[in-house]
Amino acid sequence: MNTHPTAASVAAHRAATDDTAYAARVSDAVKVYGAGETEVRALDAVSVGFPAGRFTAIMGPSGSGKSTLMHCAAGLSTLTSGSAFIADTELGALDDHRLTLLRRQRVGFVFQAFNLLPTLTVAENISLPLDLAGQRPDPDWLATLVEVVGLGGRLRHRPSELSGGQQQRVAVARALAGRPDVVFADEPTGNLDSRSGDEVLGLLGRAVRTMGRTVVMVTHDPVAAAHADEVVMLADGRLVDRLAEPTAERVLDRLGAYDRETDARGSAAS
Ligand code: ADP
Repeated sequence: MNTHPTAASVAAHRAATDDTAYAARVSDAVKVYGAGETEVRALDAVSVGFPAGRFTAIMGPSGSGKSTLMHCAAGLSTLTSGSAFIADTELGALDDHRLTLLRRQRVGFVFQAFNLLPTLTVAENISLPLDLAGQRPDPDWLATLVEVVGLGGRLRHRPSELSGGQQQRVAVARALAGRPDVVFADEPTGNLDSRSGDEVLGLLGRAVRTMGRTVVMVTHDPVAAAHADEVVMLADGRLVDRLAEPTAERVLDRLGAYDRETDARGSAAS
């Protein structure tokens, strides 16, 4: 059930017809897990674009399909039907090797658990994606990144010598090192206290607003989502809303409405 059909259909129409450049997008995306009685339709015909040079947050109740959407949009998992694009490249048209190359060269990732390599220094962790992709680092860009993340004095340290917030800032610099088309961040503040979380969110915001990058972030935290330019809201595997210039209060409000709907449907069905 969708209490905001107008907002969602207007947004879908806009996505289909305007000339916005999208760093990533999915069209009629369907993802089904399992089969028969255990079948779960995690994405149910979702069409959404993530505009280049913007910070978009994906929100929705637990189980609404946020992670699935991110994974399919980022080429970490494949759609059951529909299509996913990074810029103009359709992911479904790529074989495994090309998809791996695309992820390495054109997509950056930030995970909740930082995922830094413990045996490498901060500097080595930051340039790892470039090394893996066989690309030559641009020293000016790397220097800018190091300055922006504020870890200039820590480049020779190992991740275990840094706080969680510092490790996540290294992970953000690593994600940006190859100047990817888009950075996907999966609950990037989930393991951080609110002050470190704020620093990481500020950093993602600066990457977009002063460095021209594109960030798509999955979060369940309205305060985190308020750092984005726009929030796209999922419920039951469908795109149900988009909020421009979100505030934590407005996000919380909408989220509460969908949570109550999901709960009401759950109790009606049981
Ligand atoms: P969210 O990130 O919003 O919590 P998910 O994308 O993780 O939602 O999950 C959406 C739905 O798909 C949920 O019902 C979840 O249980 C189901 N799901 C996710 N991953 C799998 C999987 N690998 N196998 C089966 N079901 C899955």
